[in-house]
Amino acid sequence: MEAATVVDKLSAIPQGARMIAAAKQLDNVWLVGGAVRDLLLGVEPRELDVVVEGPIDELLEALGGESQRFERFGTATVTSEGARFDIARTRSESYAHPGALPDVSPSTIEEDLARRDFTINAIAVRLADGSVRSNPRSLDDLAGGLLRVLHPGSFVDDPTRLWRCARYAARLGFQVEPETAALAAAALPGAVSGERLGHELRLALREPSPTALFTILEDLNAGALVEGFDPRPGSLDSALDLLGEQGSAPLTTLAACCAGVELDLLTRWLNFLQFSAEDRDCVLVASRWVTGEPLRNAQSRSAIAAAARGAPLEAVALAGGENARLWLSELRHVGLKITGDDLIAAGVERGPMVGDALNHALDKTLDQVIADRSEQLNTALEFLNRSSQ
Ligand code: ATP
Ligand code: MG
Repeated sequence: MEAATVVDKLSAIPQGARMIAAAKQLDNVWLVGGAVRDLLLGVEPRELDVVVEGPIDELLEALGGESQRFERFGTATVTSEGARFDIARTRSESYAHPGALPDVSPSTIEEDLARRDFTINAIAVRLADGSVRSNPRSLDDLAGGLLRVLHPGSFVDDPTRLWRCARYAARLGFQVEPETAALAAAALPGAVSGERLGHELRLALREPSPTALFTILEDLNAGALVEGFDPRPGSLDSALDLLGEQGSAPLTTLAACCAGVELDLLTRWLNFLQFSAEDRDCVLVASRWVTGEPLRNAQSRSAIAAAARGAPLEAVALAGGENARLWLSELRHVGLKITGDDLIAAGVERGPMVGDALNHALDKTLDQVIADRSEQLNTALEFLNRSSQ
């Protein structure tokens, strides 16, 4: 694995070429972390992480564009001609207590690499000359597909690294090296804020295979997921297939995994992980399958609509079956071409009956007994006539 070719590979990416040009005159700018890893693996990096050994001002000036600085951490985000760069000063970190956010202080590139999570992410390439700094095992581990922490206290300092480990193992198809696996098994996964854990879970749900990730995470540490969580729910693939581009695949995935988690516990867990009320309620409803039975038993198109209407799309998809497919692909888009105002214009008095009449006309439309506007209006008016007799 030729780390010296990283700058060449970087120059083939438009924003990479811009960064190289800006850093050319500076001897202290390093590409680090995921970007180096991905370039060495021949994968396009998701974003470019750059660190400067010393003040970042000169690099910001050379890059131009708009920059937003965060003085406390010595970092800045630059947006310029559509590209975005995250720039940080090299820093070392210490933890006031396990799971705390780190206290940071300026450091050398070597110390900056030593604070990182896994050997494959502890490689830095200097943009001015392509020279490489790394943990002694980084390049072998990258070539061998191994995830290895940099020191035995790594998971204690930051238990979110359990999630990061599972994320890389699932995404890159890497193995967790045995000593790292033993350290992961002994870690306390809950010794960290709900906000940070929630962030990791939401990232996990957006990975290409969240179920592979959850399976690995559960193997790494049995306590990392809530009791009753099913990392590989059998119902999920068909639900995602039914859902297609509609609704939220991440929430459907989470709901499927949480079908066996006791309701009170699940509510507390999702609150702790700082899910929005809307997302939490979607997962709660969809995970309980409440829509399942009435939907499967519905015998007509209007009965399918009555069972599915108002339920989250994710819940309908998880309920599964032909009726769910029909609702998601067709029936949920069926509407009326009349409104209550049309009935009032036809002489009907305002009141709850107007809504009932519209619902009746909608049911007949769903059942394909009627279709056009005048049929809908007549059907609603006949319903009102019959009801008033
Ligand atoms: P991705 O492709 O998911 O963005 P990445 O490796 O770039 O992967 P980031 O979360 O973007 O991951 O972080 C960038 C780098 O910062 C990582 O490669 C790693 O070196 C370091 N890092 C991030 N979070 C941690 C952490 N919790 N502990 C130690 N190092 C970390
Ligand atoms: Mg990254």
